[in-house]
Amino acid sequence: MVNTNTYNEFIDITSKNKVDLIAVSKTRPNEELVQLYNLGQRAFGENKVQELLKKYPELPKDIEWHLIGHLQSNKVRQIIDKVTLIHSVDSISLVREIEKQAKKQACQMNILLQIHIAEEESKFGISPNSLDEFISELSKLELKNTRVCGLMGMATFTEDQDKIKKEFTLLKSLFDNIQSQHIFGTDFRHLSMGMSDDMPIAIACGSNMVRVGSALFI
Ligand SMILES: *Cc1c(COP(=O)(O)O)cnc(C)c1O
Repeated sequence: MVNTNTYNEFIDITSKNKVDLIAVSKTRPNEELVQLYNLGQRAFGENKVQELLKKYPELPKDIEWHLIGHLQSNKVRQIIDKVTLIHSVDSISLVREIEKQAKKQACQMNILLQIHIAEEESKFGISPNSLDEFISELSKLELKNTRVCGLMGMATFTEDQDKIKKEFTLLKSLFDNIQSQHIFGTDFRHLSMGMSDDMPIAIACGSNMVRVGSALFI
């Protein structure tokens, strides 16, 4: 069930701060998505392609789907005409495939680069140290059907608020740095950071897009 009070409270906070709220609906049944839809929510985030493909035809067509989880190149084709924004791009080969499939479908695909800012070991995300190199590789691709619209990151899962703040501050500085160089023009505008437990810190650190799941449900 949707926690309507929390949802309204989060809508209040995010709209006051001009932050987009992506409702993370992974593992939640369609009835709950419809409940959020009826409260006005249109942006939903899923982390698995299969789950997104199952929900997609069963729900209203004006939903904006965000893919927030790891994406394998061989699944790009299935989602390219269904999602608004892919938050989890972390390899050049994946960008190449997105560009290829978007060209085939004659559509534009919006992507965020996922940056690995957490202390935890993870296979996913571009390391901050290799971001410059990644961007110079990207420029060589001369993308036409893919727009690089910003950065995404997840902080370490910890109670240590200072640590979370440090990681989000790092991501914000990487974002500001790219933006100030006008590498991707005005498309580059989303900083996707903050989840149920760290949303207030993320917003204080300059996030303009939060991905909130568990807190919205009872
Ligand atoms: C699940 C998930 C979220 C939401 O996490 P909550 O703690 O449930 O708010 C955000 N981002 C990603 C990438 C996720 O997989």
